[in-house]
Formats: sequence, structure tokens, C-alpha cells
Amino acid sequence: MTVVESRDEIVGAVRDFVEREVKPVASRYDHDDVYPAELVDQLGEMGFFGATIPESYGGMGLDFVTYAMCIEELCRGFMSLSGVFNTHLIGAYIVRVHGTDDQRERWLPRLASGEMRCGLALTEPNCGSDLQAIRTTARRVDDEWVVRGNKMFITNGEHGSVFATIVKTNPDIEPSHRGMSCLLVQKGEGFEISKHIDKLGYRAIDTNELIFNDVRVPSNDLVGGEEGHGFAQVMDGLETGRVNIAARAVGVAQAAFEAAVRYAQERTTFGKPIAEHQAIQFMLAEMATKIEAGRLLYLRAAELKNAGERADLEAGMAKLFASEMCREVAVAALRIHGGYGYSTEFPVERYYRDAPLMIIGEGTNEIQRLVIARRLLERYSV
Ligand SMILES: Cc1cc2nc3c(=O)[nH]c(=O)nc-3n(C[C@H](O)[C@H](O)[C@H](O)COP(=O)(O)OP(=O)(O)OC[C@H]3O[C@@H](n4cnc5c(N)ncnc54)[C@H](O)[C@@H]3O)c2cc1C
Repeated sequence: MTVVESRDEIVGAVRDFVEREVKPVASRYDHDDVYPAELVDQLGEMGFFGATIPESYGGMGLDFVTYAMCIEELCRGFMSLSGVFNTHLIGAYIVRVHGTDDQRERWLPRLASGEMRCGLALTEPNCGSDLQAIRTTARRVDDEWVVRGNKMFITNGEHGSVFATIVKTNPDIEPSHRGMSCLLVQKGEGFEISKHIDKLGYRAIDTNELIFNDVRVPSNDLVGGEEGHGFAQVMDGLETGRVNIAARAVGVAQAAFEAAVRYAQERTTFGKPIAEHQAIQFMLAEMATKIEAGRLLYLRAAELKNAGERADLEAGMAKLFASEMCREVAVAALRIHGGYGYSTEFPVERYYRDAPLMIIGEGTNEIQRLVIARRLLERYSV
């Protein structure tokens, strides 16, 4: 079987699963804000906790393109589901690429099976974009790191068991990133989780504040074994995250478009389906064109990552364009549905509430613009 054939088969299996199992129940989980445990377990059985973890560690070993396409399909059904796996797999990526051999051997098989579920703990109550301003510290006591501080808005907070956590191991050094390290912090003594944070969208999955009151982490769970590399390690992880955020945005936008194009042929005004009014046709044409552009951008960034090339510019562009596009398409779908778009009877209101997360998550779009501009100025330097 060629790579493309096996890719089509895997993506097709996710599409079938979404049509059969996810679409009928997604709005109910969202409205009730209840964790979709059954769906997560089914995806776990399909191997999703190990999606991008190499087969030698028990994972599926999917390449970046195939995984991003799976994420698009998943988000056509229910965007929240993708969060469970994306953050878990960013953690696994950080261990795989930046961890020691011992860390890969100890962690990757348990992450691939879903026995251990990972979260990514960067943001704090006082800072998100300005990551170097974090206040969480870890001090070395004998053979352990003792972690103190708070992390905010952490996906998988309740259901995760280990968190790739950025801390300051040397708070006095300048520039600050040289004193930052990434620790694999497990739940245990001193680890508290705040109550579930109620959200506009991205509902049904857990987002929490984590509180570390002198949580002890064995020294061999410092990623890579050396202090001072945490900032670069998590930034690399976020780059893969941005490709997947773009794929998420394309998935939500595709769902909104499909709902709108169907409704436009069913709803009649002035004696004909609204799809026959040119104003509606123009909206549909723009929606589909922008979705296709977003899809090509994320595929291009994923292909560069597959080839092992630098992709921060392309991942930033894909994330920026696709997330803004998703918001516009969701609003257009809502308009096409008229009053029904504003009711909870149709899923477009969910797409409209889910869309803004992609503008904020994995670095806000203002930060993406800074990243993109910095790279452009390097490339076109005079
Ligand atoms: C549902 C949800 C799930 C999340 N999951 C996780 C998770 O699993 N792990 C995790 O670590 N974090 C997570 N986050 C946090 C998310 O990554 C941050 O919210 C995001 O990075 C922005 O940080 P902030 O909220 O502190 O905003 P701030 O950094 O305070 O920014 C506020 C505003 O100022 C703008 N801004 C900031 N700096 C600049 C600048 N230099 N120039 C121009 N504009 C600027 C921002 O773009 C934004 O518009 C999650 C957030 C949400 C809402």
C-alpha cells in the first residue's frame, strides 16, 4: 500500500467514525458540558493516543499530514474531541524529540496506549503570550525538583495524568528563557486542580487551573536531562500544535459550510430556495474558496514538518489564516440559517462559539503576526 493509499484509508476511517458516532451526539455533549468519555475511549481504541508516536514505541506512527487530515475530519464532527489528543501528542512530541533515551523508553509506550494522558502546562494566571514572564519555579532538592506555582487554562487538567510543564529552574538569569526548563509533572502530593472552567465553546472537555504546592518531580523527568532548554522545547512543540490548530479551524469551517449549503437548498423565500439568490451563492462561493485556501496552507506546513524542514513561518501563516477564516465562515453559515442559526436547534451556533478558540490557542493571532513578520524580515533582509 502506498503512503497516500494508507493515508486515505486512515482518514476515511476517521470520517466514517465521525459520521456514525460523533455527529449525532456532539451538540448534546456540548450543551450539557459533559466529558465525551465514550467517544474518547473509542478513539483510544482506534489508536489515537499514539497517533503520531512511532510504531517502535507502540504508536501508529502517523506523519504530520495524515494526522492533520484526521484532525480536520474529527473537527467536522466535534472540535472539542481534538483537544484531548492534540495536547497529549504535543507532550509526546516534546518527549520524543527533546527527551533522553531513558525518557522515551519510560514515557512513550505509556502515552501511546493512553495509560498515561498528557497535558501541556505553559500559561499562568498572569501570562500567556509573554511566556518568559512565568512565575512557576522548580528548585533542586537532592534528586528531585520541587515545583511551586499555578498554571491556567490547562486542557486535559482533570483527565490528564502527566503535564509537560514549563518552569523556571533559574529565575535570576537573563535572558529569562535561559533559566526555563520543561518538567514532566505527575499528579500526586501537592498537585491540586481547580474547578472546571466554564467556557463559551470548546465545551465538554476539561480546562482547569493547576496548582503546584511543592510538587516533587524526580530529576530524571527534566526533559532532555539539562536545565535551560525548556523554552525552545515547548516552542518546537507549539509549532506542530499550530499546524493542527489550522486543521481544526478548517474542520469546523467545513462543517459550517456543509450545514449552510444544505440549508440553503432546503429553505425557500420569495418562491425559490435561498440557494438560488445570488447573494447567498456569493457567500457560499467565498466560504468554500477560503476553506480550500486554509486547507492548502495547513497541508503545506505539515508537508514541511514531514520533510524535517523549518516550518515556523508556514505553520504561523496556516494558523493565522485558517482561524480567521473559520470565524468568518461560521458567521456566514449563521447568516444563511437566518433566525434558526441563532437557535440551539442547529449546530451552526456551536461552530460560531468554537471558532474563536483557534484565534487564541497555541499563541494568539497577534503573536502569529509577530512571528510571521520576524521571519519575513529575516528572509527579505536588505
Ligand atoms: C479553552 C482554552 C484552552 C487552553 N488550553 C491551554 C493548554 O492546554 N495549555 C496552556 O498552556 N495554555 C492553554 N490555553 C491558554 C492560551 O494558550 C492563552 O490563553 C493564550 O496563549 C493567550 O494568553 P493570555 O490568555 O494570557 O492572553 P495575553 O497574553 O494576556 O494577551 C491578551 C491580548 O493581548 C495581545 N497581546 C499580547 N502580547 C502582545 C504583543 N506583544 N503584541 C500585540 N498584542 C499582544 C494578545 O494577542 C491578546 O489579544 C488555553 C486557553 C483557552 C481559552
